[in-house]
Amino acid sequence: MFKKILIANRGEIALRIQRACRELGIQSVVVYSEADREAKYVKLADEAVCIGPAPSAQSYLSMPAIIATAEVTDAEAIHPGYGFLSENADFAERVESSGFTFIGPTPAAIRTMGDKVSAKQAMIKAGVPCVPGSEGALPEDPKEIVRIAREVGYPVIIKAAGGGGGRGMRVVHTEAALLHAVQTTRAEAGAAFGNPAVYMEKFLENPRHIEIQVLADTHKNAVWLGERDCSMQRRHQKIIEEAPAPGIPRRLIEKVGDRCAAACKKIGYRGAGTFEFLYENGEFYFIEMNTRVQVEHPVTEMVTGIDIVKQQILIAAGQKLPFSQRQIELRGHSIECRINAEDPVKFVPSPGRITAWHAPGGPGVRVDSHAYTNYFVPPNYDSMIGKIIVHGDTREQALARMRIALSETVVEGIQTNIPLHRELMVDAKFVEGGTSIHYLEHWMAQHK
Ligand code: ADP
Repeated sequence: MFKKILIANRGEIALRIQRACRELGIQSVVVYSEADREAKYVKLADEAVCIGPAPSAQSYLSMPAIIATAEVTDAEAIHPGYGFLSENADFAERVESSGFTFIGPTPAAIRTMGDKVSAKQAMIKAGVPCVPGSEGALPEDPKEIVRIAREVGYPVIIKAAGGGGGRGMRVVHTEAALLHAVQTTRAEAGAAFGNPAVYMEKFLENPRHIEIQVLADTHKNAVWLGERDCSMQRRHQKIIEEAPAPGIPRRLIEKVGDRCAAACKKIGYRGAGTFEFLYENGEFYFIEMNTRVQVEHPVTEMVTGIDIVKQQILIAAGQKLPFSQRQIELRGHSIECRINAEDPVKFVPSPGRITAWHAPGGPGVRVDSHAYTNYFVPPNYDSMIGKIIVHGDTREQALARMRIALSETVVEGIQTNIPLHRELMVDAKFVEGGTSIHYLEHWMAQHK
């Protein structure tokens, strides 16, 4: 087992990884930027090293700074968390060529999944159902593009092969708008992702976002840990997640889950990963794979009792998964609300000093946050300052517990989206379950 792990991230996930290390009796080193000096996990750290100024490019995205820190602190492995360098295949490669273990998949797997065209091709080959669309990247020939779109059927969506974070996509409703849209998306993709390749998919009008969590070890074992429903989104950013997904027949989920686990074996995947699907009219359509731990992993931990971050570390250390698919049982229901430092109506970020912080508690309540009273939320990074996660025997009980938890939570000095969460937890349609990925934006338009 590793003696020391370097945590190459910040915020709540840095704290989460630190906690997992402690449980396993592993020392951890946190790296931090000048803006994160005050963070809880820095104060609690076994070792903490400042790696640069506030801008991410000079700190959390600086491969030389992170690898040099691992060298001087004698860390053996690097956990990349989510965001930043977590899905950067070059980073994973540099970590390994410098003699450290990368806690995640192989650089080759990250590379394949990081390009959405190659990811989709790998999935089609592995028998995972995908959104109908162009086979591979779109060709240059305009006539061919028009033909493909007719075959797929309008509306279609043009997506950048290198896209991410909800960027580099364009919906096209008519043939008249097609070629211009392809051209613009290509230009944008070239500028933003350094890869102008685009592909085409059928645009699904009213899907839900359902994802499958997987774990695979280096001994050819792979399991799936149930699903998460992450349909509550604004501008493709998830804000509420839950497990299991309400109202979807178990046999459909089991079928797609088994396909995901089988695909992991087929492609030699290792570590934690998530297969993201759109779900519409009883069908699942793969859209992308995330080769890292996700923000919403706790809802899966709550219903399975499996610690995903600990498993990532154990897998990286070469251990076998300690359970088989048959031993994985889903119990009860879990919901997560992401707490963002932002205006709850206008959504502009609201960084600054937290003058009062009171976290909720009680049965079935978990809070993953690095914030505390007098903590300064830096303006330089993502606005998420923590997550409230609840578990109940039923969805109703989980909802009740989340309402209580939100009512107990106090955050003063900055604005947060807690008022929005309080309203959504009593919204009739959300309470019923099964809303689509467009629900929140429609809801907000009506509640202006
Ligand atoms: P990213 O990597 O940028 O998150 P995804 O491929 O995961 O890109 O797509 C992000 C979001 O865009 C999805 O959650 C969904 O809301 C929307 N989307 C993507 N593809 C389609 C599609 N074929 N039909 C409808 N919506 C889509």
